[in-house]
Amino acid sequence: MEQWEADDSRRRHMARFGRRDTAPELAVRRELHRRGRRFFVDRQVSRRCRVRPDLVFPRARVAVFVDGCFWHLCEEHTHLPKANAAMWRRKLRANRQRDARNQAILTSEGWRVIRSWEHEDPTAVADRVEDELDRWAAIVGRIAERRRQ
Ligand SMILES: [Zn+2]
Repeated sequence: MEQWEADDSRRRHMARFGRRDTAPELAVRRELHRRGRRFFVDRQVSRRCRVRPDLVFPRARVAVFVDGCFWHLCEEHTHLPKANAAMWRRKLRANRQRDARNQAILTSEGWRVIRSWEHEDPTAVADRVEDELDRWAAIVGRIAERRRQ
């Protein structure tokens, strides 16, 4: 029974890979929208890599990812399939390495990257995003203040 459940949830994760508008992503978007935040969705931000962050705040240069537990190898929820376990491990590790590479590129281009897991509370994720946006607003505000003086 337990195995069946694990397989079933894996199938759901796998079916979702690469798709937009997953439920956890929508929950984060809805929460930020409710708080009056505006952003782009699923948009390429760098010429050096094709990664498309799930939420993009271009002015603040904040990029948000809501990572699926299976494909991004969350340690709490990833149950590797028994068949071809070694192949899966390699594949999922490669995904994580690609995540890290993409993140390094974005960071080098001045993006603040926020990674969250699909298992995280969307309210907590939205809090983290807002902290980053507020930090940016405070910096911009200080610069504007200095210019006026
Ligand atoms: Zn997880």
